Amino acid sequence: MFWQINPDMPSLIGPMDQGDLWFFMPTAIGSAQKPTPAEAEEMIRTSTGIDTEIEVLSSDEWVASKLLADRFRRDRAFMIGDAGHLPPPFGGFGMLLGVGDAVDLGWKLAAVLLGWAGPSLLDSYEVERRQTAQLVLDAAEANHTILANQLILPHLEDDTPEGEAARVEAAEMVRRHKAAEFYARGVVLGYCYRDSPAIADDGTQKDWRPSLDYTPSATPGCIAPHCWLADGSSLYDHFGAGFTLLVTRDADPAQIDAARSAIEAEDIPLTVLAPQDDRLAGLYQAPLVLIRPDQHVAWRGDRAPSRDVLERLLGRRAVAAA
Ligand SMILES: Cc1cc2nc3c(=O)[nH]c(=O)nc-3n(C[C@H](O)[C@H](O)[C@H](O)COP(=O)(O)OP(=O)(O)OC[C@H]3O[C@@H](n4cnc5c(N)ncnc54)[C@H](O)[C@@H]3O)c2cc1C
Repeated sequence: MFWQINPDMPSLIGPMDQGDLWFFMPTAIGSAQKPTPAEAEEMIRTSTGIDTEIEVLSSDEWVASKLLADRFRRDRAFMIGDAGHLPPPFGGFGMLLGVGDAVDLGWKLAAVLLGWAGPSLLDSYEVERRQTAQLVLDAAEANHTILANQLILPHLEDDTPEGEAARVEAAEMVRRHKAAEFYARGVVLGYCYRDSPAIADDGTQKDWRPSLDYTPSATPGCIAPHCWLADGSSLYDHFGAGFTLLVTRDADPAQIDAARSAIEAEDIPLTVLAPQDDRLAGLYQAPLVLIRPDQHVAWRGDRAPSRDVLERLLGRRAVAAA
């Protein structure tokens, strides 16, 4: 994406294919203004300074939105993707959010339909995904506060010391904008499903904060911290399709057996994973970690999870969100 920064016609342009099809987005024209194809051609020439042959194929009005549905569920109907949340596109998070919704809802629907989870597990979908959408919406809005319009400073195009100073200042504004993007990257990977009935908080959620950049955390509700194992494989590739009990080298063998028995007694599909890797104890801060099918930490501890905890994680008991 290229930004044209000039007071005459600030705009964004970018390729739509690998040929010569481009979009042109003037960012300072009013919504009442409906340019004809000839006027649009003139705008492109004014904005870019490029005098070339142009054919306008289509034009429409587009407005950045920041919208979040009050509810993501009613009875048997669930909303996922843009139907539930529309972030401003700066940062490129819309599709990612929608895919995240599908991943969250997908395993829960499967678990309920296959009978190993209770129907109230589905209540956790809205709790988890709506708060994540809110974080991403805020980050995308922060990105949206600097476009080509905001960078137009006096003397910007002058070949003078004032012009040079203006360009340095504009570059600094872009640098700060980049910092906002990193913040967004932090929340896209580094969110935490807080107060979810399908997560067993061990008391550490209150201390968890989204970070400017992504900081891996095994606080229950976070995406499981990743690492590459000694054989070059990804830790994630060893997680099962159901729940995974991740065992670090600090685990007490009796508690590993007790945890496996407790989970299997609940008919939960389980993979027990004990990689011989010293880093896991530090990364996960617990000898036993239960990871959901969507790769989020559900529970961690040093003793087998109780039946009560497992029943809550699986929505077999209705529990009001905290
Ligand atoms: C300018 C712009 C740039 C973007 N850039 C990025 C980016 O870089 N990265 C990123 O991750 N995301 C980006 N996005 C967002 C991304 O495109 C959307 O988040 C994503 O496409 C949403 O997918 P969806 O399946 O939820 O909805 P949609 O893609 O909107 O799909 C909904 C579908 O339902 C159909 N439909 C609607 N009503 C009915 C009906 N009654 N019956 C049957 N069908 C119906 C529609 O025709 C449509 O095909 C961008 C969006 C915009 C506008």
